[in-house]
Amino acid sequence: MAEYLLEAQHLRKAFEDKTVLQDVSLGVRRGEVVVIGPSGCGKSTLLRCLNGLESVDGGEILLEGQIISGQKKNLHLIRQRVGMVFQSYDLFPHMDVLGNLVLGPTRALKRPSKEVETEAMAALARVGLADSAHVLPRQLSGGQKQRVALVRAMLMHPEVLLLDEITAALDPEMVREVLDVVLELARSGMTMVIVTHEMRFAEAVADRVVFLENGLVVEESVPAQFFHQPHTQRAQQFLASFCYDSVRDGKNMQNTKEAN
Ligand code: ADP
Ligand code: MG
Repeated sequence: MAEYLLEAQHLRKAFEDKTVLQDVSLGVRRGEVVVIGPSGCGKSTLLRCLNGLESVDGGEILLEGQIISGQKKNLHLIRQRVGMVFQSYDLFPHMDVLGNLVLGPTRALKRPSKEVETEAMAALARVGLADSAHVLPRQLSGGQKQRVALVRAMLMHPEVLLLDEITAALDPEMVREVLDVVLELARSGMTMVIVTHEMRFAEAVADRVVFLENGLVVEESVPAQFFHQPHTQRAQQFLASFCYDSVRDGKNMQNTKEAN
């Protein structure tokens, strides 16, 4: 058995004359949750390359040790094995929730619709949406839509799930309900590559953090190390941008001065 379920070796990707991924290597083991640090450019491009939505210009992508990059004729199979959820839900607006959920498994996997419906209903109940099977996406909140999008991805039974800033468009109070579903998937042993700006969540869910900058991996470590003692100055700067202690300290100093 290959050491990594999903592996990128020296990936290179350019759009016209702009190199977005310079030389990215990344290995994801079974059941592992890897968070790509949101620093600068290339995260979405990397995820899109990993599931065949973008072709690569150099390097290889391997799934269970088999090269999958450059295999145009197997693209549908690759996208089924490597699932992806985006920031913008991408549900079909004219179909109800159940319709959206059964489409992939019945069309792409040729599974009987009754069987998929039963599975979809059970999955909806697990994410707290049992009552939403027959409503249209526009009747749902952003958080509900994103939970439906996660269920839809899982119904394809992917081996790896790629999540690209799936809470970035949500109002803060809806972020948690979506991240709880992701946490539940992680607990169930789902292998995931997650791009997120939710640093506390990243620290809680990740087995490993990979920090990308300008199309290169600049730091890779376990969350305890990355979030509390990052090696690189770039990671330190990045984490500091999420920290407001200095703002509070500055304000307190100001108040003390005024009191004097
Ligand atoms: P991130 O997800 O880290 O914000 P992206 O991977 O979306 O970064 O984009 C990285 C860079 O690649 C950006 O400068 C973006 O403009 C460029 N880019 C992404 N997709 C395309 C495309 N299809 N055509 C041209 N440039 C692109
Ligand atoms: Mg992006």
